[in-house]
Amino acid sequence: MRSNLSDYVPVVGEGVVTELRLLGERLAGKRVLNVNSTRMGGGVAEILNRLVPLLRELGINARWEVIRGNEDFFVLTKNLHNALHGTPVNFTPRDRQIFDQVTDANLDSIDLDADIRFIHDPQPAGLIKARNGSNGHWMWRCHIDVSAPAPGAWEFIAPMVERYDLSVFSAPQFARTMNLPQVLIAPSIDPLSDKNRELSQSEIEAVLTRLGIHNDKPIVTQVSRFDRLKDPVGVIKAWRMARGRYDCQLILAGGSATDDPEGAAVLKEVRELAGDDPDVHVLDLPPDANVEINAIQRASTVVLQKSQKEGFGLTVSEALWKRRPVIASGVGRIPLQITHKYSGILTHTIEGAAFWIKQLLGAPDFARKLGENGHNHVRENFLLTRHMRDYMLAFLFVADGQGSVIRI
Ligand code: UDP
Repeated sequence: MRSNLSDYVPVVGEGVVTELRLLGERLAGKRVLNVNSTRMGGGVAEILNRLVPLLRELGINARWEVIRGNEDFFVLTKNLHNALHGTPVNFTPRDRQIFDQVTDANLDSIDLDADIRFIHDPQPAGLIKARNGSNGHWMWRCHIDVSAPAPGAWEFIAPMVERYDLSVFSAPQFARTMNLPQVLIAPSIDPLSDKNRELSQSEIEAVLTRLGIHNDKPIVTQVSRFDRLKDPVGVIKAWRMARGRYDCQLILAGGSATDDPEGAAVLKEVRELAGDDPDVHVLDLPPDANVEINAIQRASTVVLQKSQKEGFGLTVSEALWKRRPVIASGVGRIPLQITHKYSGILTHTIEGAAFWIKQLLGAPDFARKLGENGHNHVRENFLLTRHMRDYMLAFLFVADGQGSVIRI
């Protein structure tokens, strides 16, 4: 079910939606092309899926294209992603060739005609080759933390990135010094999407039954792609330590994005470690399992996000929006989503996560308060409407091209 902007009024208030309509008037008819590397799976696709139809409702001629690549390309870009996060990788001339070949193929197949091209993350960054001076504006959106890359990683993308008019980062600490204007825009969740909308108890129960999960003991959950940086193995270890004290079950719900070739290997490792323990539910969900994820998050007593690296953890905001107490690693942007012991818990170790699982299972009132505070923080800062407003301001900024002022 698609929501209209007016459906957001009960959630965010009339004023917020009116402001969006006013900004939309300033951009009416502008052709805004978004390009990323996967239509399903992961946070970027999640946001574009909602954002593009709403921008269109405002009269902006928004489109969304996805680059195509072969396996070599996605292995390379996954390595690049890890290296931008700091994992050492040795890039060879052959890697550059693979990247350029796929970029060129996409330059031939994607219609890049637009007033503003909004290119997301490193994979499609090379499309900037199509720039020839005056043909519209180019924005590069970086969703990951590139503040401490491994040697060679930033250098791999810098010659492309530096040709854009504007770069957009999720947080000041993710950004880099560059010769182009930068703006800071946090991602968001959509409170009306199937992933986040209210569900009735019977809808939640129906999903659990379908997934073979009995709601007869507390549920500890992590929802994340099966990716080493999400540390699913650490989650199992922490849960095992905690269950010695409180009988509880564990759900590891994930899937893999089409641009992530490592997913299957990580899932295999996780399954092996989980063994045949009936209290561990490892769920390999299809990319459109939004209601399932919603129900799992709502049914959870405690939600974990034990990432070793993270950009902005959308799953953290999703769980907080559902008023769940969240225990998360204090990495990436997560400390701006959670204030320790106020709107969630920040930890850095498996032992720390285990300790806090026990604490929260043993103190439901405190856990409820964390969830309530977390929900309010998301309402104020991390909903889609705020995100749309920021993007539209950035579009106005590049479209105008006049110094550092946004003219409205
Ligand atoms: N997600 C999903 N299915 C899965 C795993 C994750 O739909 O099997 C969603 C999750 O609910 C969230 C997004 O994918 O909306 C993940 O965003 P996040 O920022 O947490 O991590 P990323 O995958 O972008 O690193």
